[in-house]
Amino acid sequence: MDTREKLTELAGNLWWSWNPPAQALFSKLNEDVFQDSWRNPVTTLKQANASVLADASFQAEVNAVYDAFKSYMGSKPRFEDAPRISYFCMEYGLHESLALYAGGLGILAGDHAKAASDLGLSFTAVGLFLRDGYFRQHFDANGWQQEDYPALDPENSPATLATDKDGNVVRVTVHFAHQPIQVQAWKVHVGRTIMYLLDTDFEENPTEYRSLTRRLYQNGRAVRIQQEIILGIGGLRLIQALGIETDVYHMNEGHCAFLTLELLRQYLEKGNVLDDLTLSEGENWVREQCVFTTHTPVMAGHDRFSPDVFLEQMAGFREQMGFSEHDLLSYGRVEPNNSEENFTMTVLALNMARTANGVSQLHGEVARRQWRHMYPDAQVKDVPIGAVTNGVHLPTWTSPIVQDFLSDKLGDWKKALSDASIWKQLESVSDEELWALRTKLRHTLVAFAKKHVANQTLQCVEALNPDALTIGFARRFAPYKRASLLFRDLEKAVKIFSNEDRPVQILFAGKAHPANAEGKQLIQQLVEISRHEAFKGKLIVLENYSMEIGRMLVSGCDVWLNNPRRPYEASGTSGQKVPAHGGLNLSILDGWWPEGFNDTNGWAIGHESSADTKEPSIQDQEDVLFLQDTLLNEVIPMFYNRDEAGIPREWVSRMRSAMTTLPWAFSAERMLIDYVEQVYRVLESA
Ligand SMILES: *Cc1c(COP(=O)(O)O)cnc(C)c1O
Repeated sequence: MDTREKLTELAGNLWWSWNPPAQALFSKLNEDVFQDSWRNPVTTLKQANASVLADASFQAEVNAVYDAFKSYMGSKPRFEDAPRISYFCMEYGLHESLALYAGGLGILAGDHAKAASDLGLSFTAVGLFLRDGYFRQHFDANGWQQEDYPALDPENSPATLATDKDGNVVRVTVHFAHQPIQVQAWKVHVGRTIMYLLDTDFEENPTEYRSLTRRLYQNGRAVRIQQEIILGIGGLRLIQALGIETDVYHMNEGHCAFLTLELLRQYLEKGNVLDDLTLSEGENWVREQCVFTTHTPVMAGHDRFSPDVFLEQMAGFREQMGFSEHDLLSYGRVEPNNSEENFTMTVLALNMARTANGVSQLHGEVARRQWRHMYPDAQVKDVPIGAVTNGVHLPTWTSPIVQDFLSDKLGDWKKALSDASIWKQLESVSDEELWALRTKLRHTLVAFAKKHVANQTLQCVEALNPDALTIGFARRFAPYKRASLLFRDLEKAVKIFSNEDRPVQILFAGKAHPANAEGKQLIQQLVEISRHEAFKGKLIVLENYSMEIGRMLVSGCDVWLNNPRRPYEASGTSGQKVPAHGGLNLSILDGWWPEGFNDTNGWAIGHESSADTKEPSIQDQEDVLFLQDTLLNEVIPMFYNRDEAGIPREWVSRMRSAMTTLPWAFSAERMLIDYVEQVYRVLESA
């Protein structure tokens, strides 16, 4: 194989997205194109500099990376006997050059697919080919969010059309009402995981349905249910047509739950009688194969369809199934005879899965309360919803600077990312080295921010100080996340930010849903505050939150702020990306943090961790007080309390505690091992 062929193979597998030496190869091929294309290897390779390709030392680097790739692909699976998994999710966050996600759900699914590959599971992921990706965000002069949707070009992506063994494109049919729609899939290699992304955008489909798979979460319930028909029913038919065998279907969030009805239809189609016995056998057969993960503690966040929309769009499918309207609706209803009740995808998934779980221990408890009414005979603790706490794919989210540092201190640290004893070895690293690492990461972030917002006239980014205590906050601008909480008591916030001897700065990033004016107002409010004299150059809102900006912020910030209204943050994963960099979480005890926090590895805002909701205005009032006091009395003094050598000893000891106790426990590897041992492998009857 020559150098170009090896590079072509490397560009065709997202493995590069978590391997910095592979990314470095493409950057060398043509740095400008690489940067302008959101670091897209396929685009870059097409415009490679011939002189670089011909360079002997470059060729040697390609050989080394290629050998590492081959050895990864052939490495021994972690489990001998794990079931074959097909994982369904509406969105996947894999890399900024392939932005098929809108938020945390997609980022988690991308990390899940990567960790499944690391462990060598037999794992197929199914999603949508979102050609318009997620929007790009700009702020106008008034700090109001503007959106545009740059289209993904399949020719410049690692995706290829899924074909049968004779090379013919595989297509399956689904129905919207009685209208047949064809579905094809794009295949993407994510290490050893194969991902199929469903697509209706081709000539054989009626024009009005071609754009369906282009964009996430569009307006209109009919569009949403059509997307979910494509994902659940189309996705299942498609992987079957490709000959992929599955032991367990993992429904990641309810969007894909129609796959359970399609499995049931297939079971019934094989028999010749449809009586109650056959039906309940069929349902049990479906349940044995399906597991479900729920992601939202916000009741309104669960996907629902009015009986009208549901029956209209599912009419063709219902007739194929031979069910009455009432019977089909009953799968998604808590009270089947309540004709007013909507069809809820979470209810369908809970009815038809053998296990269900939330995404942190606290969220499991919240979900048990939330769905208690489905199980009238059960006490809350007996509601059959467990928990597998989320984790992050460390090789994706850990800065190359830290990756080198870890290789130096721990050797082959990627070999067992969830092994506590490996991370424990960081206890012997000196304060001086840890502080130097922290300083370098913060300087790198500040330089990046200055460049990133260079043509943004809104804010005074030039004034950012690479040695100031740097706080980060990046997440969707959903109101429950309370982005502006710290500024609720503005006078005290001014005091926090105007002490010249102890400078503090805060960087924000995040997108609001295009249809959510409240979220957009939050952004505008922050931009307005940033123009206040006391916050100039100290509060910056970075445009266009992406995986790249995410990586930069979680690596460079000293403190990661998370202040949701409890208990609405199911898990939150951005804070889990921080501790490998020696960053410290300052967080409400919600989501994953009650499991992570141990008094020495970050800070809690307030005390309680419970599934109880409080009157929002009271909770906001209490929490802003806790937050500002913790900053003023603990965080800021500790950061600036330096010894003769200029080192904040107490701070560094917290960093060490965070680095040894958190990354492995909240790694996607630990999460996947939990799924294999507690969910995928376990049958209810066992
Ligand atoms: C990690 C991450 C998220 C999810 O973070 P939350 O804390 O769950 O909000 C969303 N978007 C990007 C780009 C991320 O990196």
